[in-house]
Amino acid sequence: MKPFEEGCPIPNAHTRCAEARYFLVECLLHYHSPQPFLHNLNAFIQALRNITFMLQSEEGLPSGFNAWYEAKRGEMRNINPLRRFVEARNIVVKQSSLTAKSTVMCGLFQGRRMKLSMKMDIKPFTETERLLTTTSKFVCDFFLGGKHSIIGEQAGIERAWVVEELGEGEVMSNCIDALNYMIVLIEQAHQLFGTGSGLEIIRLKDMREFTVMLETDADPSLVKKWGWLEG
Ligand SMILES: [Zn+2]
Repeated sequence: MKPFEEGCPIPNAHTRCAEARYFLVECLLHYHSPQPFLHNLNAFIQALRNITFMLQSEEGLPSGFNAWYEAKRGEMRNINPLRRFVEARNIVVKQSSLTAKSTVMCGLFQGRRMKLSMKMDIKPFTETERLLTTTSKFVCDFFLGGKHSIIGEQAGIERAWVVEELGEGEVMSNCIDALNYMIVLIEQAHQLFGTGSGLEIIRLKDMREFTVMLETDADPSLVKKWGWLEG
């Protein structure tokens, strides 16, 4: 499948870059469902690696390409986070699974900011939505006095994924940085042919849009039920 073939000088690399972007967005959309999240993360890591494999084997590359790409290769080798993605891809393809860890914090939120957290003994690979049921009851009974009278105050769960092999910290931030590097690389490659890729880098205002699941995310009808629409 080469949807970018028409007019695109590097259709294979371009397609793989769009594919990596697709899987990254799927990861964000499945952040609270461990199995789909990890399937998409594995797919992302492989698609990301395929971008440069494809770029090197494109046909009809212009004369300046090799010198440019050699410089880029040197640059990529010296960027530790990018090297980690290459190594992680080898683990996914050849050896075993990555070491994915997930932590969750349950509690009372104002907007997407946690006000009070509570300890809950849970299995980390449980779907967030299942944990939310227990959290909601607890928060409503003990923190909110059985009511939802303050707009924006409700139960929620903040999840974090860390994959040791891809570096410290929340894994999607690392993925976004790596993908954005590749999107810029593919854009520059297009420019060598005097054209553009049209691929946009990923900019997130607030990761909590994805890492936090509120009661009203799981059930949007609650906004009306709690009377938050009036006034
Ligand atoms: Zn293109």
